Amino acid sequence: MDLKSLYQDIILDHYRAKHHSGLREPFAVEVGHVNPSCGDELTLRLALGEGGRIEDVSYEAVGCSISQASTSVMTDLVIGQDVATALRLYDGFQEMLEGQGQVTLDEDTYGDAIAFEGVAQFPARVKCALLGWAALRDAIGRTEER
Ligand code: ZN
Repeated sequence: MDLKSLYQDIILDHYRAKHHSGLREPFAVEVGHVNPSCGDELTLRLALGEGGRIEDVSYEAVGCSISQASTSVMTDLVIGQDVATALRLYDGFQEMLEGQGQVTLDEDTYGDAIAFEGVAQFPARVKCALLGWAALRDAIGRTEER
């Protein structure tokens, strides 16, 4: 199996059985994000615990496989982490997506998220892959404003 089809399988697995899907309580902030260019829609809730630890990220997603799978992978990576770590992961993921295929992710750090490296070659899909992450960053920002 080549790398490309392996990556496609990872994305399809997350799309078919999304991790941490559904809206749960309690939560600190709820945000809604859309990606009009593709039609992706996402409602995301963030629950924070002691010391800014991300206790839960729950969501309801409608849209393409890339946007939904990317959100699923994101929740795997950030739940249980502190906010600063989650924001660092966001920065690295965004940098890779906007790197036009020149930037790779560390597999130990990013796990299944490396499957989205192929998306960087398709600028029209970058927003799909970033939707969940952008919603998370927005939610984190809103908790800090309060
Ligand atoms: Zn999309």
